[in-house]
Amino acid sequence: MNESALREHICECGRSLYDRGLATGSSGNISVRLDDGWLLTPTNASLGHLDPARLAKLDWQGNLVSGDAPSKEAFLHRAMYEERNGAGAIVHLHSTHSAAVSCMSGLDACDCIPPLTAYFVMKIGKLPLIPYHRPGDPKLGDAIRGLAAKHSAVLLANHGPVVSGKNLEAALYATEELEETAKLFLLLRGHNPRALNAEQIEELRQVFKLDQQ
Ligand SMILES: [Zn+2]
Repeated sequence: MNESALREHICECGRSLYDRGLATGSSGNISVRLDDGWLLTPTNASLGHLDPARLAKLDWQGNLVSGDAPSKEAFLHRAMYEERNGAGAIVHLHSTHSAAVSCMSGLDACDCIPPLTAYFVMKIGKLPLIPYHRPGDPKLGDAIRGLAAKHSAVLLANHGPVVSGKNLEAALYATEELEETAKLFLLLRGHNPRALNAEQIEELRQVFKLDQQ
């Protein structure tokens, strides 16, 4: 996909997320890697009303090349891209169910949503929880850098998920799988759910070659 098609695609995905209530107000941001930098949704922009021509285009030093000022959460995306060469796109949301889980106490910080479904294992795998940081704290970028080589997605405590994918469609689908699994996790609290066991997860890893993703 060329840059102009990618710009259109970001706006379509933003509208879809907004229309389904997965991004409200000006929350959430979407980025895509280009041959000569990357595109990111602007600061204070609603994902439901993006303009392809006004998306922020950045270089890898963090300079704005063109477009509106980037989201203040640009550093979350940059930290993930720096550790994941194969990441072509990143979606970050404050979506309700994932954000709700991110506020729970007593989560396993290495694996904060259990493997309830095969698709969660295949699209997200083990989801680490990153401790709370105030908005804009550069230490949050460092925390992502420490985990992103081994994890395509992380959950920021009291905040929401950051999810990468080989392209925007993959990042979007993984983000939606995470949100739906967070919803299941909340629905099943107190119901003694049966997650997939180690043998079932190993079978998925082998059949779908998950370690090579
Ligand atoms: Zn955020």
